[in-house]
Amino acid sequence: MAESISVRRVTVSGRADVVVVGLGAMGSAVCAQLAGRGVSVIGIDQYDPPHPYGSTHGETRMTRLAVGEGAEYVPLVRRSHELWREIEAQTGAELLTQSGGLIISRPGSWFFEGTRELALRLEIEHEELSPAGLRERFPMFAADGETEGYYEPAAGFVRPEAAVRAQLEVARRDGARLRPGERVLEWSASGHGVAVATDRARYAAQQLILCAGAWLPGLFPEGRDLFAVYRQLQFWFPIRRGYEQLRDMPVFVWDFGGERGDFVHFDGFYGFPAVDGPTGGIKVATETYETTTRPDGRRRPPSPAETAAMYRRCIEARLPWLGPDPVRTLSCLYTATRGSRFVIDRHPGHETVLIVSACSGHGFKHSPAIGEAVAQWVTEGRPGLDLTPFCLPPAPPAREPTAQHEV
Ligand SMILES: Cc1cc2nc3c(=O)[nH]c(=O)nc-3n(C[C@H](O)[C@H](O)[C@H](O)COP(=O)(O)OP(=O)(O)OC[C@H]3O[C@@H](n4cnc5c(N)ncnc54)[C@H](O)[C@@H]3O)c2cc1C
Repeated sequence: MAESISVRRVTVSGRADVVVVGLGAMGSAVCAQLAGRGVSVIGIDQYDPPHPYGSTHGETRMTRLAVGEGAEYVPLVRRSHELWREIEAQTGAELLTQSGGLIISRPGSWFFEGTRELALRLEIEHEELSPAGLRERFPMFAADGETEGYYEPAAGFVRPEAAVRAQLEVARRDGARLRPGERVLEWSASGHGVAVATDRARYAAQQLILCAGAWLPGLFPEGRDLFAVYRQLQFWFPIRRGYEQLRDMPVFVWDFGGERGDFVHFDGFYGFPAVDGPTGGIKVATETYETTTRPDGRRRPPSPAETAAMYRRCIEARLPWLGPDPVRTLSCLYTATRGSRFVIDRHPGHETVLIVSACSGHGFKHSPAIGEAVAQWVTEGRPGLDLTPFCLPPAPPAREPTAQHEV
C-alpha cells in the first residue's frame, strides 16, 4: 500500500527512488533491472501490459546479431541474448528461439551489405548463399537468379508479450510497485526531484524515466519534432503447402534495396516461421511511412485493400506457398526518428529525467540490454554499454527548471 506523504506541499500517494512511465518493452526491462538492484521503483502504465495498443504485441519479434542498422547496436543485442536466457531461467518463460535468420536481397543494398560487412568485421557466424544455394536450401522463397542470401544461425525471434510479462513478474518479485491502468497526466521536475500526477494518484521520486513509446511526444513536447508515429500492419497468410519446411525455416528479411532516409527505415518485408501449427499461417509484415498517426487506444487492423496490396506487392510472387486471405491481422505502432535512430538520453532541461524511446521499428531485440544499461546509469552514474550513439540531437530548446509537462 502506498504511503501518504507531503512533498513540497503536494499530497502524494507514493514515493520511490524512480518512477518509470510506460511498462512495455523498454519500461518492463528498466523496472526489472532497477528492482533487481534494490532500487525502489514505481512503474505506471495506462493499460495492463502486455496490451495491443502500442508497439509490443503480435507474438514475435526478430532478433539478429549483425544489425545492419549499425555496429553501435551490436553490443546491445549480444547482451540482450544473454539476458533473455537469464530471464527465462528466472521465470520459466520461453522467450528466445534461435531459429536462424535469413536476409534475402540483390547485392548492393545498404541493409544487406551493412549486415554482411558487420558480420565479417565482428566475426559473427554466418553463411553467404549464392542465388542457386539460396533456392536449393530455402525453396519456399521464389528468388530470382540475382538474389542472394545471408544466413545467421544465432538469429531468431523473441516473444514480446511473454517478455513483457516475465520482466514485470521479475520486477514485482523484486519489490517494484506496478500501477497498471493508471494514466500519467503530467510531470514536473525541480532540484528536489520529480512529481508525477496520474488520473488516480500523485507520486514523488528522485528520478523519472519516460518509456512511453508512441505516447512520448505528449510527455516530452520539446522533442515532438524528433518523432513521427506510423501505423504498421502484421498479416498471418495461410499455408497452402510445405508446412514442415515453413515450420523449420529461419526468420527472414526480404530486402527490396530501397534507400533509407528521413523517417524511413527499410524497404522490403520480413516474416517468421510457422509457429502456430499448420492452420496458424505465416506472419509477415512490411513497413509503411505514408501518413503519421497518433496512439489512441484503438486497434486499426488492415483494410481489405491494404491486405490485398500486401499480398500483391510482397507475397504472391515471392512466397507462393502462402494463400491470399489472412487468418489474422493486426496493427502496431512505430515511433520513428530521423535516420531510424534510438533516443536514450537525459531530458535536455532536467538532469533527473531520462528518455528511453528506442523504437524506430527495430528496438525490441535490444530492450533487455537497454533496461540494464539505463539501470546502471541510474545506480552507478553511467551505463555499462555505450549509449552515446543514441543521444538526443544537438541544440534542443532549454527549459525552465520547474516547468509542468502535461499530456
Ligand atoms: C509491427 C512491428 C514490428 C516490429 N518488429 C520488430 C522486430 O522484429 N524486431 C525488433 O527488434 N523490433 C521490432 N519492432 C519494434 C519494437 O517492437 C519496439 O521498438 C518496442 O516494442 C517499443 O517498446 P516501447 O517500450 O518503446 O513501447 P511500448 O511497448 O508501446 O510501451 C509504451 C508504454 O507506455 C505506456 N504509456 C504511454 N503513455 C503513458 C501515460 N501517459 N501514462 C501511462 N502509461 C503510458 C503505454 O501504455 C505503453 O504500454 C516492431 C514494432 C512493430 C510495431
